[in-house]
Amino acid sequence: MPHAIAIIGAGLAGLAAARRLTAAGRAVSLFDKGRGPGGRLSTRRAGDWRFDHGGQFVTARDPAFQAVMAGLLRAGHAARWDGRIVRLESDGGISPHPVERFVGTPGMNGLIHGLAADLPAACAPRWGTRVAAISGGPGDWHLQGEDGGDLGHFGRLVLAIPAPQVVELLRIPAPALAEQAAAAILAPCWALMLGFAGPVPDIGWDAAFIAAAGGEDRPLSWIAHDGAKPGRGGAASWVAHASPDWSQRHLEETADQVTGPLRAAFAAATGIDAAPAFIAAHRWRYALPSRPLRDGFLFDETLGIGVAGDWCLDARAEAAFLSGHHLAGVMGAA
Ligand SMILES: Cc1cc2nc3c(=O)[nH]c(=O)nc-3n(C[C@H](O)[C@H](O)[C@H](O)COP(=O)(O)OP(=O)(O)OC[C@H]3O[C@@H](n4cnc5c(N)ncnc54)[C@H](O)[C@@H]3O)c2cc1C
Repeated sequence: MPHAIAIIGAGLAGLAAARRLTAAGRAVSLFDKGRGPGGRLSTRRAGDWRFDHGGQFVTARDPAFQAVMAGLLRAGHAARWDGRIVRLESDGGISPHPVERFVGTPGMNGLIHGLAADLPAACAPRWGTRVAAISGGPGDWHLQGEDGGDLGHFGRLVLAIPAPQVVELLRIPAPALAEQAAAAILAPCWALMLGFAGPVPDIGWDAAFIAAAGGEDRPLSWIAHDGAKPGRGGAASWVAHASPDWSQRHLEETADQVTGPLRAAFAAATGIDAAPAFIAAHRWRYALPSRPLRDGFLFDETLGIGVAGDWCLDARAEAAFLSGHHLAGVMGAA
């Protein structure tokens, strides 16, 4: 009977679970389809530009996550972001938005690099490995890769991936868990990346939340000068996130189709209308939970299957960490 625990997804939730399970002496195998560390805290490089096109910063309010952040700060994988962060009001006003925020260094995926590097070598994530199917039953779960390849037999499983992907993988082996996961809704987000050849004029702020006028939709919800974050070297790399409603309406368009209107909205909000030397858009089909479960995690002890992710708790990166951390507390003790 296999004893090891397989964790599918090495984002913040999967790594939090791996950390706590290995600390409790459990053997863990981690699989992630991404080519490298990141998940929704990914960083894209193009020339000298570096873009945090997913999660832009994290907050740390819970002592368990604060302790982990302190370790990442000490090891140089993270830094406090004391940038000029504001809220652009719908009446044209600008108000400060002071909250303690942290970023990964030299990109947001520094957080994932740091957490993965802390695991015992035998539990290092296997990047570029998508779990395509789960079969078997309690005590002997079999994972199959994309090409039908055998990824091994495991006593228990943790799925730390977005809800729709949980539904797909658990529909047959664990239909009740799949049904619970199906209740969560994740909203999409189109992310625009702009790289400028020279410095752009100082516009008085480094990042801004964009308020919606009463009942009206706005194309953008967030703009940031990523190059001004700590450890980025000041490159003129900017990211703009489209609002959930706008992203939903334009979800099936191509990146080429959305860059024009998003760039126009960026120019209107910032006054920066210089031609970018680099422009790209990335579609996050499942970006942030608009209807999280609030349960913290899902766990079926009889099946030996746990499920974690931000969507089990709240729409922030810290919630992803806490979800995996709390699930592992239960599974490590069981
Ligand atoms: C555009 C955007 C902006 C955001 N802004 C913020 C912000 O400013 N502040 C904040 O706190 N949060 C923000 N977030 C949310 C934050 O990024 C997430 O809450 C957090 O990263 C989720 O972590 P996770 O581990 O739950 O999921 P993920 O990061 O999605 O990790 C899941 C992992 O599973 C892997 N995977 C999926 N399916 C499979 C499979 N079948 N087999 C193997 N591997 C698989 C994926 O490659 C991925 O690495 C933002 C997210 C987005 C997309």
